[in-house]
Amino acid sequence: MGLWVQKYGGTSVGSLERIHEVVERIIRAKRQGNDVVVVVSAMAGETNRLIEMAHGLSFDPDPREMDVLLSTGEQSTIALICILLISKGFLSRSYTGAQVHIRTDSAHGKARILEIDEKKIRADLDEGRIVVVAGFQGSDSEGNITTLGRGGSDTTAVALAAALKADRCQIYTDVDGVYTTDPRIEPAARRLARITFEEMLEMASLGAKVLQLRSVEFAGKYNVPLQVLSSFEDGPGTLITYEEKEMEQPVVSGIAFNKNEAKLTITGVPDEPGAAYRILQPISDANIDVDVIVQNTVRDSSTDLSFTVQREDYEHALQLLEPLIESLPAKAVTGDNKIAKISIVGVGMRSHPGIASKMFSVLAKEGINIQLVTTSEIKTSVVIDEKYLELGVRALHAAFDLEKAPTEEVDLTK
Ligand code: ADP
Ligand code: ASP
Ligand code: MG
Repeated sequence: MGLWVQKYGGTSVGSLERIHEVVERIIRAKRQGNDVVVVVSAMAGETNRLIEMAHGLSFDPDPREMDVLLSTGEQSTIALICILLISKGFLSRSYTGAQVHIRTDSAHGKARILEIDEKKIRADLDEGRIVVVAGFQGSDSEGNITTLGRGGSDTTAVALAAALKADRCQIYTDVDGVYTTDPRIEPAARRLARITFEEMLEMASLGAKVLQLRSVEFAGKYNVPLQVLSSFEDGPGTLITYEEKEMEQPVVSGIAFNKNEAKLTITGVPDEPGAAYRILQPISDANIDVDVIVQNTVRDSSTDLSFTVQREDYEHALQLLEPLIESLPAKAVTGDNKIAKISIVGVGMRSHPGIASKMFSVLAKEGINIQLVTTSEIKTSVVIDEKYLELGVRALHAAFDLEKAPTEEVDLTK
């Protein structure tokens, strides 16, 4: 018994039938004697549909109005859930993000939560209500509606759980936990009984969309007990945990990938202080995020610099680099938007040298060329040709014995 925050994703509320099932699950949690706060996403496909409509009217829809539009997806589902709960005799109220004072900054489309005033929710809970909150949204200090970026309902749930000091934050989705890699790409992927916050942070930031990155950051920072579970069937799911010193850690816990990047290369750059800055400054001034950066060895006092950006920023980044050929000067600017990044992640990598070279040899055996490499203490990422993504993920999954990942269960069913 306690206070539970349950989040249901788009597929989980994707039809009236699914909403019936979700409502049964909510009722079960309530009947067990818990205070229940529910966070829901828009119905599956709805956010995309709204985005397409806006782009059908304008190439560059106004960001403020985009957020007004996108927030309606979640607003519909909260009402539908409450309509059903109330018809079944339960006290329940739905709220948009703004109505429960989820205060964010003003960065439309990717706003950050600054604070939450949880008093209203608490008052409702004290009166026995099930509170249903729209995910993915808040409002800024001027009262403008904001949204938190794709997958943002996860972050709403974790932020509410932190503000309410919830006993559990349950993320219900269309897979029954966090897997060694996306089970849609590698059917041999295994559910992990637990994964550390650090590993989950890397997995999320490297492309595993099962949890939005910011939700994991929040949970780690505020000590939120976070679980990923299936809304389709009962099961133990995956618990996100702190690293326990005595626990034997597998060297590689998971494989993440990202098909959403593009690579730019500028060749024949003068090898002198400030050159990299002059290349990347216009990119950052345009608010384009840069991911992997690699500078090659110097030949004839010139060098090549490659970096990756989000695929949607590719054309813009190319345009920004073109003038540098003359001004730097540089020899040429080239690019490739058919790349993919594969990353192996594991806290066990800290104490096991040679993991990167094993990764390279596995990819070499498959004839996959590595274009860029980046490493940190607990991950190694490579950029390869997009068409070898599945092959690479599967080969690495097998080579690092992930289909044998231990599934020692953590009992949280009580
Ligand atoms: P929701 O709509 O519930 O928020 P998402 O589609 O955002 O669900 O996230 C769940 C999806 O994440 C799964 O269907 C799966 O394809 C994908 N995914 C990617 N990597 C992983 C992973 N390592 N473990 C589990 N699911 C993953
Ligand atoms: N509906 C939003 C999206 O599709 C937020 C979410 O589902 O978490 O990204
Ligand atoms: Mg999601």
